[in-house]
Amino acid sequence: MLTTPAALFEASFDSSKISFPPAAVIRPRREEDIGVALTLANRHGVPVTVRGRGTTLMGSAAPVRGGWVIDMLRLKRLHVEVEAGLIIAQAGATVGDIQRAAAAEGWFYPPDPSSKEYCTIGGNIACNAGGMHGGKYGVTRDFVVALRGFLPTGEYVEWGTATKKFSAGFNLRDLWIGSEGMLGVVTGAVLKLIPQPAARWTLLTSFRDETAALQAALALFRQRVQPAICEFLDRESVLCAERATQTTVFPGQAGRPVILLELAGSPAELREQKAVVLAWAKAHAHGFRAARSRAEAETLWAVRRKCSGAMFELGDAKLNEDIVVPMRNYVRFIRYLAGLKRRTGLPIPTFGHLADGNLHVNIMYHRGVRAEARTAEAAVGDLMRTVVALGGAISGEHGIGLAKTPFLRLQHRPAQVKAMRAVKDALDPKGILNPGKMFDPVRIWKYPKITVHLPWDHK
Ligand SMILES: Cc1cc2nc3c(=O)[nH]c(=O)nc-3n(C[C@H](O)[C@H](O)[C@H](O)COP(=O)(O)OP(=O)(O)OC[C@H]3O[C@@H](n4cnc5c(N)ncnc54)[C@H](O)[C@@H]3O)c2cc1C
Repeated sequence: MLTTPAALFEASFDSSKISFPPAAVIRPRREEDIGVALTLANRHGVPVTVRGRGTTLMGSAAPVRGGWVIDMLRLKRLHVEVEAGLIIAQAGATVGDIQRAAAAEGWFYPPDPSSKEYCTIGGNIACNAGGMHGGKYGVTRDFVVALRGFLPTGEYVEWGTATKKFSAGFNLRDLWIGSEGMLGVVTGAVLKLIPQPAARWTLLTSFRDETAALQAALALFRQRVQPAICEFLDRESVLCAERATQTTVFPGQAGRPVILLELAGSPAELREQKAVVLAWAKAHAHGFRAARSRAEAETLWAVRRKCSGAMFELGDAKLNEDIVVPMRNYVRFIRYLAGLKRRTGLPIPTFGHLADGNLHVNIMYHRGVRAEARTAEAAVGDLMRTVVALGGAISGEHGIGLAKTPFLRLQHRPAQVKAMRAVKDALDPKGILNPGKMFDPVRIWKYPKITVHLPWDHK
């Protein structure tokens, strides 16, 4: 157990950069130690917050009620079951390490949050993390076969076994996935793998405007094409990324919205899909460019990777909303967004994963300008109400944490919130695990942010 000022400070915040110092930090080397800590905490009513790498942007890993932080980073053993196509991972392993261990055996673990070199599989399970591959392959939930860990009371549990089929009893495994560290501590997971795709192909397409881009994407999906990745960047995002990378996506076109596609599969599958996609691009795109090599594909992907960090040229503060819009409402949504930009006068660069409707709407403002901060806060509320009215979700991959607590009741009816609270009370009768999150509306904007540079900032 650590109580040095440095250890307490490090564990006091996540990527939301709002700091709540804990009383102590526990860095277990053995999974059993977590059970011991939880038993004691439960007995004495000590709040406990589990921490992976603290990359969440929602404040969900910040120990708002103090108490103990359990830091999972030492628990990072991995083992691939080659024949079964499974990987058994301790919760502190990074997603990047899991992907590399799988690839070394010819397998592929598709969920790929942009933070994958830092974030842990425990954190991904707790947030049901997604990424660019979500549309074709699915998100973390789709790859979790079984979980083990501890209930908030300190009792050890296993939800499922290292087998692909399991129908014995209630599925509490899925209750833990996306529970944001409030229903139990994941210490290990059995994850499903798929064969590595033999070939990949990248195509960059540009469009007259955002509406044309989204209409074109729908036309592609109607042809039953499932790109491994289908990323949309609006005009503002493209301009920021171009300036940051000092490249021009399509020379002379001053930043048009783009869709970046990756096809993956066997060479035969790829040949078939390529033909369909090229015909689609000719019919719908303003311009298109296929990567002739992996190196060229990398330069195209660099634009996508840079766009999030590059937006800070538009303001020193960002409200990054990971909303989901049903495909049938793509065009209505993009028109709404254009109106929101006009009404607020704020830059709102937007990019995201078109194959699953998960768009990252980035409301940029200057922290020191009070009027801008107030407008940004009001814009988030407006955005959330609109997304729900369009049949979408207030979060597709980041979760609720603290930041989205004011909007939980927009998404869920009172009976649904009551059911969620009942589950929490049943598994955590003393309310010790990650208290203060999810249910009680917190205006996160009210808290001062600390000044600290994280390795993944502006990625
Ligand atoms: C630059 C950047 C890019 C990102 N890109 C993406 C993206 O593409 N897709 C995406 O989905 N997210 C993304 N995120 C968000 C974040 O990386 C994910 O939510 C990730 O899953 C958090 O993992 P972590 O290990 O950092 O968890 P933490 O931030 O430490 O914790 C997150 C939550 O999980 C809980 N938790 C952590 N470990 C456990 C455990 N073992 N058992 C139970 N609960 C646990 C914590 O209590 C907390 O509630 C991004 C973040 C950044 C900073």
